[in-house]
Amino acid sequence: MSENIEGKGLADKLFNNKKSGWECATDEDKRLIFKFSDEYMEFLNRSKTEREFAKNAKAVLEENGFKDISSVESISAGDKVYYCNRGKSMYIAVIGEKKLEEGLNLVGAHIDSPRLDLKPNPIYEDTEFAYFNTQYYGGIKKYQWTAIPLSLHGVIVKINGEKIEVNIGEGSDDPIFTITDLLPHLAKEQMQKKLSDGVNGEDLNLLIGNMPYCCKDVKDKVKLNILNLINERYGINETDFLSAELELVPAFNAKSLGFDYSMVAGYGQDDKVCAYTSLRAILEAGVQGKTAVCILADKEEVGSMGNTGMESQTFDYFVSELLNKSGENRPNLLNKVFCNSSMLSADVGVAYDPIFASVSDRTNSAYMSYGVSFDKYTGSRGKAGGSDANAEFMARVRGILERNNISYQVSELGKVDVGGGGTIAYILANKGVEVIDCGVPVLSMHSPYEVASKFDVYSAFRTYKAFYEEA
Ligand code: MN
Ligand code: MN
Repeated sequence: MSENIEGKGLADKLFNNKKSGWECATDEDKRLIFKFSDEYMEFLNRSKTEREFAKNAKAVLEENGFKDISSVESISAGDKVYYCNRGKSMYIAVIGEKKLEEGLNLVGAHIDSPRLDLKPNPIYEDTEFAYFNTQYYGGIKKYQWTAIPLSLHGVIVKINGEKIEVNIGEGSDDPIFTITDLLPHLAKEQMQKKLSDGVNGEDLNLLIGNMPYCCKDVKDKVKLNILNLINERYGINETDFLSAELELVPAFNAKSLGFDYSMVAGYGQDDKVCAYTSLRAILEAGVQGKTAVCILADKEEVGSMGNTGMESQTFDYFVSELLNKSGENRPNLLNKVFCNSSMLSADVGVAYDPIFASVSDRTNSAYMSYGVSFDKYTGSRGKAGGSDANAEFMARVRGILERNNISYQVSELGKVDVGGGGTIAYILANKGVEVIDCGVPVLSMHSPYEVASKFDVYSAFRTYKAFYEEA
């Protein structure tokens, strides 16, 4: 034997020899991966907002025997319940045989994504153009949202409580909307600005019409014509926009990316890719021991505040209801439940992008198609504001992945001092839950068209399912 061969044997034994999941995938694996991704893209295309995601998730849950927790008197092992919070966030549970006080197996994702919201007084006319005024939601690069087709989604609620659902720009006969950008011929000044200042937030005005209402004695005839068309379609007037939540999202759909169809390109994959995979996982998990809970949170992209964000007490309320309806409750038991619980904070990670290699530490990056990626910690600079999983929990989770032969990797958000970020992990960790971040690595995160690997999407599904079953 030459020394070289011995050295290779030793390297196989001692190195962390991660490689692309596609290299080991069988034809049957690939068939399952592509089928799952097709179903994911179909769901994503009709779930572009948190309200649409929650509504479609609720329908799938009902089809699979889950019941609204408010409609059941008591719960016991094997029961499946959900709570839909104001149509924008959801908590879903499959009751296990063990007592709730022994802890929950949680997987938590968020279903809101960066976008543009309409302002409360959105409509105005300027120079025979009608516009909607917008305010961006979450961390966006503003220039990416000009000169692309946008669709309008959301609700308008009249003072009598009537709720009008809006979805325009998705159907093949629907019009779309757009925010105009300056032609390069006249953009000398704009092009010299910093990228962050090239498009002002206040100038993100949506073009919605140009045809005047034909009469002589009115000003703002284009605005009048648009309001008249909106009134014919939805039965509302300008004042009704005061009680509306209308969101602009890219009008294009998720599609397979590449000659090899290996990736998914689509809007809102942060974090609907983890939301969809954790939802599918709880539908298909064979829960026996601890109770499994799937969290689909809203408002993560703006700090998890408010009564549909993860900071809200509504999650505590849901778990208290589980305790009440299982007959297990007693004073302060909720704290014990949390302290005995474990969680995967299911949020997308940063995939290593060779075009922007300088922001990543190569040995601590997540690579596309290497499987679900764990961020042991988040935060920025000296881990400020981050949630940091302990080694003992990390080891337990590794055990689950290894036992189930699931590809995974452990990474960080980017180079030290380059930037940072966070997820809902710290909120549950503060309650005493063991938490680690674990999600699909993506390219172009927070852009109108994010990219994920189909291998990693399926790996996330398998990870969440295994975690519900045996954490
Ligand atoms: Mn996210
Ligand atoms: Mn995000």
